[in-house]
Amino acid sequence: MSQFGPDYVRAIAPYQAGKPIAEVAREFGLDEASIVKLASNENPFGVPESSRAAMAQAAADLGRYPDANGFELKAALSSRYDVPAEWITLGNGSNDILEIAAHAFVQKGESVVYSQYSFAVYALATQGVGGRAIVVPARDYGHDLDAMAAAIEADTRLVYVANPNNPTGTFISAEQIEAFLDKVPANVVVVLDEAYNEYLALAHQFESSAWVRKYPNLVVSRTFSKAYGLAGLRVGFAIAQPAVTDLMNRIRQPFNVNSLAQAAAIAALNDKEFLEKGARNNAEGYQQMIAAFEELGLEYVPSFGNFVLVKVGSDDAAGARVNLALLKQGVIVRPVGNYGLPQWLRISIGLPQENATFIEALKKALG
Ligand SMILES: *Cc1c(COP(=O)(O)O)cnc(C)c1O
Repeated sequence: MSQFGPDYVRAIAPYQAGKPIAEVAREFGLDEASIVKLASNENPFGVPESSRAAMAQAAADLGRYPDANGFELKAALSSRYDVPAEWITLGNGSNDILEIAAHAFVQKGESVVYSQYSFAVYALATQGVGGRAIVVPARDYGHDLDAMAAAIEADTRLVYVANPNNPTGTFISAEQIEAFLDKVPANVVVVLDEAYNEYLALAHQFESSAWVRKYPNLVVSRTFSKAYGLAGLRVGFAIAQPAVTDLMNRIRQPFNVNSLAQAAAIAALNDKEFLEKGARNNAEGYQQMIAAFEELGLEYVPSFGNFVLVKVGSDDAAGARVNLALLKQGVIVRPVGNYGLPQWLRISIGLPQENATFIEALKKALG
């Protein structure tokens, strides 16, 4: 164990990312082109054409620093969400927003509340500032907001809520969120992480920016990594009132979102067709997945995101075992043992053929 750095940094367990295609090809002696990756909730359609064109144009100016204030992207977001540009913080992915919030609002020793089985970065961001995690037991694999409100202590500075949640896919209704926000003390910042918002059916979508107007302690976090297909560029954003936004902007790196990302995000934001195609593919792929799980008699958690959590055995080695059997067949999914879910796997929803390849491989792996 190294003698460098504070205890709370040495205690951090590194984030486990989905295995890259090239690594699996090397490790298992497979052809890269034959590998199906359903491990990181990426958009199976890749980068929208509109973003590619915008990046090609922006590439000419890469000798210069990006716009540190992201004027054009903020203007586009401002009109899309009907909030002043001064209410927006840009992030190097929304991961950056989650970290910035911890740095801006939490001192060493103060507490942060989040749910069991919620996004791994909440723990990392909390630990990174020496915060004390209050992890509230999940209910039906999702957030128990009543218990989370009750878990807030005098020194709690921040609460993370993911809706829909990753890795479980659970969803919290607008009524429940609002009832929760009414209970949270005004000096506690709530980060509402809506990375999968664009995949929700219209009946489940609500204008979270309206809540930002009502709650000065609310930060709504969104990303271009999932439905917008720009995961590799790293761009996300937060919407919050000026008092909170001002602090987040002091903490963030001045050039945290690069020029290509800014240009691509503006184009994607206005690409309704791409979003609709992705949502349609996702809804159909989800049905394809759960039909297979039902045929195989596998338990799954009903999902509102672009992925689904499925139980592949009843012993604690099941997730790792089935994952390995899938890797050998060139299918990459996400084991979730690090989330305390060793009997489960998380599968991102891909193109119909990718889903079919996974289902066939799963049948063999369980066979
Ligand atoms: C994927 C994900 C994010 C962040 O992704 P970025 O690429 O950093 O924007 C944030 N929250 C949840 C719950 C996610 O699943």
